[in-house]
Amino acid sequence: MDYWEEIERVDPEIAAAIRAELERERRKIELIASENFASRAVLAVAGSILTNKYAEGYPGRRWYGGCEFVDVAESLAIQRAKELFGAEHANVQPHAGAQANLAVYFCVLKPGDVILGMDKAAGGHLTHGTHANISGALYRAHFYGVNRETEKLDYQEIAEIARRCRPRLIIAGASAYPRDIDFRAFREIADEVGALLMVDMAHFAGLVAAKIHSDPVPYAEFVTTTTHKTLRGPRGGMILCRERYAQELDHAVFPGVQGGPLMHIIAAKAVALKEAARPEFAAYQRQVVKNARRLAAALSERGLRVVSGGTDTHLLLVDLRPQALTGREVEEALDAVRITVNKNSVPFDDKPPAVTSGIRLGTPAVTTRGMGEEEMVEIADLVATVIFNLGSEEVMERVRRRVDELLAGFPLYPGL
Ligand SMILES: *Cc1c(COP(=O)(O)O)cnc(C)c1O
Repeated sequence: MDYWEEIERVDPEIAAAIRAELERERRKIELIASENFASRAVLAVAGSILTNKYAEGYPGRRWYGGCEFVDVAESLAIQRAKELFGAEHANVQPHAGAQANLAVYFCVLKPGDVILGMDKAAGGHLTHGTHANISGALYRAHFYGVNRETEKLDYQEIAEIARRCRPRLIIAGASAYPRDIDFRAFREIADEVGALLMVDMAHFAGLVAAKIHSDPVPYAEFVTTTTHKTLRGPRGGMILCRERYAQELDHAVFPGVQGGPLMHIIAAKAVALKEAARPEFAAYQRQVVKNARRLAAALSERGLRVVSGGTDTHLLLVDLRPQALTGREVEEALDAVRITVNKNSVPFDDKPPAVTSGIRLGTPAVTTRGMGEEEMVEIADLVATVIFNLGSEEVMERVRRRVDELLAGFPLYPGL
């Protein structure tokens, strides 16, 4: 990038860390389901002089002067978000997904209110009521999981839990759930018990934008998301809601849980949302899901157990209990051959979260690099080879060479 010489002059240690990270991204097969590679335009705007501007408030009603140009950027981001997702209102200021969720809670809940979210052990996110998170500290959190047989959401069971705990807010959406979600069923449950519905589509927002995942917007009062996962924008968050909550929600974001918005990031969100409205983006998302399905099938064919038998989305979970291995050791072994995944609990896991019995794999990043189903079969073969030959340095060395050969065909950020 143009700035690199300047970074090197001012701060060689940080310059070295950035260069090393770029090399890492280039040299490893990135299968972390929550990661992606943002476009050069998104990177450039996120690194722009818009970082200099204070703009507390909202377009046209700011607490600072000189906001006429950042107003243009934020208005574009809002307009594009509303159009892309067919939402009545959008708030593009949340610094991240966690802040987006907190703002919705602050908007509609009082401390001590009951919330019902997906258990983190079953694939939910820590901001959905986990003890260690503010959502678990401020509110009385209840949880639903997945069905033991199908490893899928069981709407009847969720309804029963909701009838028992009478939540003020039901939270749908997850970080490690490979299947589509029936938002109409969640709406019916919420209506029956008099709850509000929030859908956290942080992981699958890109699939929703491409219309290949059920759309939560018609069913939920609030839809929160990150902008950096399948949506492939800058690191950040966003909230969509019904018009009747617009004012209260904006007030809950600022001054409720945040101060000044990150205008460089908001402008980069606008760019990403423009990119996401293009037909190429929908084609990309279709390929992401095709790749995940192929990867899941190829891993199964090689004798690995894929949770729930497959995937409808960009991610899948491998259960390592049949091999008597832990997520932690397999994550480490794969990292040693330059394949990046994360350890992840599988449903009804008896291992603690720092160990786990599974790994989570996702295809957004490798698909951005241009890989297709043929490459997914090769990757499945590499992953299975490592898992079935754990500890063999000779096998590892062979896999490392195949990783290098595979990646050579898919350059990342050429010229950067
Ligand atoms: C990633 C994620 C978040 C949090 O996003 P951050 O930007 O890391 O705060 C929230 N909810 C779900 C379901 C997620 O997967």
